[in-house]
Amino acid sequence: MGLLTIGAFARASLLSPKALRLYDELGLLPPAYVDPDSGYRFYEPAQLERARLVAWLRRLGMPLARIRAVCELPPARAAEAVASYWAQVEADTASRRDLAAFLTGYLSERETAMPEPAQTLGIRYAARSDIGRCRDTNQDSAYAGARLLAVADGMGSRGDLASAAVIEALKPLEAALPAGDLLNALDGAIRQASTAVGDITGTGEDTGTTVTALLLSGSQLALVHIGDTRAYLLRDGELFQITHDHTVVQSLLDEGKITAEEATSHPQRSLLLRAIDGSEVTPDTSLREARMGDRYLLCSDGLTTVVSTPAIHEALRSAGGPEPTAQRLIALANNGGGPDNIACVVADVVALP
Ligand code: MN
Repeated sequence: MGLLTIGAFARASLLSPKALRLYDELGLLPPAYVDPDSGYRFYEPAQLERARLVAWLRRLGMPLARIRAVCELPPARAAEAVASYWAQVEADTASRRDLAAFLTGYLSERETAMPEPAQTLGIRYAARSDIGRCRDTNQDSAYAGARLLAVADGMGSRGDLASAAVIEALKPLEAALPAGDLLNALDGAIRQASTAVGDITGTGEDTGTTVTALLLSGSQLALVHIGDTRAYLLRDGELFQITHDHTVVQSLLDEGKITAEEATSHPQRSLLLRAIDGSEVTPDTSLREARMGDRYLLCSDGLTTVVSTPAIHEALRSAGGPEPTAQRLIALANNGGGPDNIACVVADVVALP
């Protein structure tokens, strides 16, 4: 069969000549032949399939460079690439949805000057850090006070100093703060912590730390998070993980490349994508409503890699006040072999007299 003019190829592929010229310029679908005199483009009928694929991938919103790569793959690999792209879009959308929900609440609260809460909320808390059963040193740090809760998991040769430094940088936030400035205050503290860790680390060292912290002001709780320490919320008997691990394994899970079961035994499950290591830091931050009766758990991976989520849920529901609950969680991790340091902060939101 002969070559098709751009008009005929456009009709057959249901794409406009304008789109075809664009795909050519972008290197996605070069014509089979370009007349050197007139500059007219001609296409092989066999190029129709690729034209349709490009059009579909454009409708999916896939970036051009990625489309180019998918077009070069055999169909089965191309199918995998599309599935992986879509899993990533959904994970990104989920985190943007959370941010949008937060902003909606945040901005509407600023609009209608918040009424004073009927009750003054406070927290009852316990913080515990344990060396575990296999390590020579404890590089985890845990802190709890009247407004601030934090856990940090240090790594590298001076990880203990790094996790202690991030807690020290957060501690001044125990002083009273206006609600609107909570996130800025946390962000500033994390930047200070990063500088402090940089001073400890010097050059070319592997030292760093994670951090997960909550700061209470009035009826608001600000959350800051970097790494694989976690925060959970027990509300009305249900358990919610409210942080998203910054690990290689979590991103493989988000992209649908491994299953949740494979994630728990993945050899690189502690490999972090983000940590406080003296370089530029981008923490996740969010504002939450403090609600009476809520219970929060902050913990290091020394708990979550050994103790299953249902077992954590059960301990949070049934072990009593914050102190015995924190002790129970540490005991569960040690009974499971205690392969790593364990840090736990348990805090209940209560009405203050
Ligand atoms: Mn750890």
